[in-house]
Amino acid sequence: MNKQNLLSLNQDALNDFFVCLGEKHYRTKQMMQWIYKVHEFDFNKMFNFSKPLREELNKIACIEFPRVVKQQFALDKVIKWVLALSKDNYIEMVYIPDKDRGTLCISSQVGCSLACSFCSTGMQGFNKNLRTAEIIAQVLIANKYLNSKVKCISNVVFMGMGEPLLNEQAVYNACDLLLDDLAFGLSRRKVTISTSGIVPAILRMSKRTPVSLAISLHAPNNKLRDKLVPVNQKYSIEELLKACKVYLNAGTQERHILFEYVMLEDVNDSTECANKLAKLLKTISAKVNLIPFNSFERTQYKSSNIQTIKKFQDILCQQGIRTMMRRTRGEDIDGACGQLSGRVLNKTKKIHARKH
Ligand code: SAH
Ligand code: SF4
Repeated sequence: MNKQNLLSLNQDALNDFFVCLGEKHYRTKQMMQWIYKVHEFDFNKMFNFSKPLREELNKIACIEFPRVVKQQFALDKVIKWVLALSKDNYIEMVYIPDKDRGTLCISSQVGCSLACSFCSTGMQGFNKNLRTAEIIAQVLIANKYLNSKVKCISNVVFMGMGEPLLNEQAVYNACDLLLDDLAFGLSRRKVTISTSGIVPAILRMSKRTPVSLAISLHAPNNKLRDKLVPVNQKYSIEELLKACKVYLNAGTQERHILFEYVMLEDVNDSTECANKLAKLLKTISAKVNLIPFNSFERTQYKSSNIQTIKKFQDILCQQGIRTMMRRTRGEDIDGACGQLSGRVLNKTKKIHARKH
């Protein structure tokens, strides 16, 4: 029998789990305290559980983590972890400290099926969806390391490997735990799902979880977006923006959307593109993040230069669109957006090829 990894269970599911064992609801709170506050993962050491309950837990449940394969430190204090989920499945996560915050960028899939033409994860193809436990374990692993260094995680973004809205249930359950005061207790504004634009999933997400939404737009018209973000051939910019409006109007609290736009030299960085983008986003509560393209092996693209990005930013700002330029971080360890993991997977494949 496969043991139930308790890191996969949000508060409601953990409640159900204990009810099935004939236990009272307060066990849920006790267990969450052990896991998320005390960081105790050995049932035998959970002294406020009776001996028979501890024995039962050992039989049917576990609290298991991916193995940390590598930890790398960049000159700008960015940290990257490579985690092994199994023999052939690796993911990466990145911690980006700033003056006033610490952002953990986590993965939701091994690889990605959407093949955006400027993304190294997309080039490696899709291997598997992460379970909730594998998503939550990333935050616990980073927390454990950072706590001992007196730093902390104030923001969690699904901007590592994979498309979170193609792994909805696991990602939503993980969001529940990220927001839950008994677990990580982050505010809904500080947890962000970034998507390339899976329209039906955005509609479902609007109802299911109040976390923030980032849209990887990257082009102001369908012709160009079809090439850069192929999923646009299925869900056009018009449909995407309609879904964005549904998200903005759902819930009782004010919502905004962050639009990400990777700056590719001579591809999507003209003044014409900037003007079109401004027009497109005028009627939406939007913030734009211009991301310099992060290079990797075998790419045809180059990043726009800093003057072009500034000019692009000015055009948007002049038309009332709040626009920031994202500093590239963790470059010396390939820890920046879109650079994650291809290398490790390729290496693994090569090692195996040599063995057989
Ligand atoms: N699949 C999701 C989340 C992971 S990608 C999405 O596409 O939104 C996180 C962000 O990194 C996205 O905005 C993505 O477009 C961007 N990105 C991908 N490759 C990049 C690269 N080489 N340089 C800069 N940003 C990149
Ligand atoms: Fe997948 Fe996002 Fe990369 Fe596109 S940018 S291939 S959706 S991870």
